[in-house]
Amino acid sequence: MATDYDAPRKSEEELQEDSIEELKSRRNDQNSGKVDEDEVEAAESFELPGADLSHEELTVRVLPRQANEFTCAACYLVKSQSQLAETRDGQQFCVDCV
Ligand SMILES: [Zn+2]
Repeated sequence: MATDYDAPRKSEEELQEDSIEELKSRRNDQNSGKVDEDEVEAAESFELPGADLSHEELTVRVLPRQANEFTCAACYLVKSQSQLAETRDGQQFCVDCV
């Protein structure tokens, strides 16, 4: 019956070894190339696909702000009046921040 206990133990050890090997190989991957910086830059300049932020991005970049826009007092982003959710003490807050 002892072998019955050994069998799962061995597989557990194998699993642990596998994960360690995985970590090692991942570490090697990260150290092997200077590609990481490029990838980070690419990720930063790359807009999230599927996330519908293109309209907001455009709105933020419009300076000076238009009459139909306001600057949110919480996130400091220029938003269109349609996104104005609340005005408190003369400060305007967008729907994302309220
Ligand atoms: Zn806001």
